[in-house]
Amino acid sequence: MNEKIARFLAERRVETPFLVVDLDVVEENYQALRAALPDAKIFYAVKANPAPQILQRLNSLGSNFDTASVVEIQDALAAGATPDCISYGNTIKKQSDIAKAHALGVDLFAFDSEAELAKIAESAPGARVFCRILTSGEGADWPLSRKFGCEPEMAFDLLVKAADMGVVPYGISFHVGSQQRDPLQWDAAIATCAKLFQDLEHRGIMLRMVNLGGGFPTRYMKDMPTPADYGQAIADSMRNHFGNRIPETIIEPGRGMVGNAGVIESEVVLISRKSASETKRWVYLDIGKFGGLAETMDEAIKYPLTFDRDLTAEGEAVVLAGPTCDSADVLYEKEEYKLPLDLAIGDRVRIGSTGAYTTTYSAVAFNGFKPLASYYI
Ligand code: PLP
Repeated sequence: MNEKIARFLAERRVETPFLVVDLDVVEENYQALRAALPDAKIFYAVKANPAPQILQRLNSLGSNFDTASVVEIQDALAAGATPDCISYGNTIKKQSDIAKAHALGVDLFAFDSEAELAKIAESAPGARVFCRILTSGEGADWPLSRKFGCEPEMAFDLLVKAADMGVVPYGISFHVGSQQRDPLQWDAAIATCAKLFQDLEHRGIMLRMVNLGGGFPTRYMKDMPTPADYGQAIADSMRNHFGNRIPETIIEPGRGMVGNAGVIESEVVLISRKSASETKRWVYLDIGKFGGLAETMDEAIKYPLTFDRDLTAEGEAVVLAGPTCDSADVLYEKEEYKLPLDLAIGDRVRIGSTGAYTTTYSAVAFNGFKPLASYYI
């Protein structure tokens, strides 16, 4: 945990659970991605954390914004972004929302199906469109495959059709899966993009843009390759597959932009055992899956834990759970989360790297618990 957040936590003993985000870390992440991929335009994936303070800071740095809904478009505009800096990147949009986005000046839309392309052509005539292709999601802790994207052959047909439907076939996008541990996972998708560029050029369609998506990881329990490692691997792939005709490139980092900028402070509500002979303790926190830690689903994302006082006794495996009356609200059971034996009810547990995908997953008053409070410093 960095000093700024540590000071905030020491000085402000506000009611738990809450998230605190250091905006300077967000800025450092932005600059690191900038330096690692100097030729790519950054479109921050607003869904990772749409707090106005984050959007304003990124807007002041020159970021663009990838949005998933009209509300996220409005959030980006409210933070000072202009519509030409906003992409509507969700492949599943209501017709009325496409019309609203277009009326707000947004001109760049994602699709992965003929029906979605038809909706865009009808409600955003003249807009630039990009087609999302499938990826395997291999190497990612939070894969996004299957639900999004289409086969390259279909992308080809749809981009040919787009030109006849009054929209501009602008590019191709993909997402290699969130928290992607392997910088080489972009290569196969970039190769597919280059092939599509070439095939479409033969049909007289000149695409302009490759959207490399998100996937850039944050550090949870283990060190990850650096942004520079990802930048190098991607630059090599772009050169190998596009030669000296490298198109405009976009990246859409979410987790890698804000994940390590935040810490959630929570409190131990109960420590118990299920029988006298049971050795494993159950530790219940005042935050769980429905309070913002949804990404513990299947124990996919493993957050690091620290405490607000020195705990000395040896760690022992526990089941870590949330406070709601839902049996699905268990955070870690399989993973050997070893917590100190002198951990007590009332101790504060700090959950690291929680700047991304937490506040927005927090339910409004499930079981009467308040949505996750957040502070931006
Ligand atoms: N772009 C799109 C279209 C997404 O759906 C997502 C995440 O779901 C992102 C970008 C951000 O991905 P990440 O948080 O892995 O950077």
